[in-house]
Amino acid sequence: MGMKKLEERIRRDGTIRGTEVLKVDRFLNHQMDIALINEIGQEFYRIFQGDNVTKILTIEASGIGIACLTAQFFQVPVIFAKKNKTKNIAGDVYTSKVASFTHGRVYDIIVSKEFLGPEDRVLLIDDFLANGSALQGLINLVRDAGATLIGAGICVEKAFQPGGDLIRSMGVRVESLARVKSMDEATHSIEFC
Ligand code: 5GP
Repeated sequence: MGMKKLEERIRRDGTIRGTEVLKVDRFLNHQMDIALINEIGQEFYRIFQGDNVTKILTIEASGIGIACLTAQFFQVPVIFAKKNKTKNIAGDVYTSKVASFTHGRVYDIIVSKEFLGPEDRVLLIDDFLANGSALQGLINLVRDAGATLIGAGICVEKAFQPGGDLIRSMGVRVESLARVKSMDEATHSIEFC
């Protein structure tokens, strides 16, 4: 079951770009509706509260706000993986590669070893799940740290793209609050799973 309020907001304020991209700049990705994102955080807390999460891990930039409002309920720190811009990667970091969905290039993400270790129980948070590359990159960092992966909380999963099946087939618990089954730019119609 999806989060009705988020689905309704996507229907009302989301815009479809071509066959692949859903823009939610009015409330999630550029301008941010804090009351709604707070409820999203509460919902992630309801789902994962029994799992003794010690850290929330996301990826810059658009995951950060969602992760922060979620973390208030868990009362744990947020770590955001940084998109590495420099060639010489500093020593004490975990690193992984991510293929950007929106920009079509590959970049490195890094997390300092100082902030993630074998004692941690990690919840991943992100805004979108499309092909699964961002989540895969975060999963690699958690594995490298020897930490326990609790699962992933996703705001919008485009279920017609392969990421959800891919990550779930790895045995990772993926909880998406809105799962888009199909969308059509011409008629501006969105169907949820
Ligand atoms: P993936 O790595 O699963 O292919 O894509 C997930 C990442 O790409 C997310 O972190 C998100 O920032 C971005 N993304 C993927 N699809 C969309 C989309 O339809 N709309 C927006 N705004 N971002 C997307």
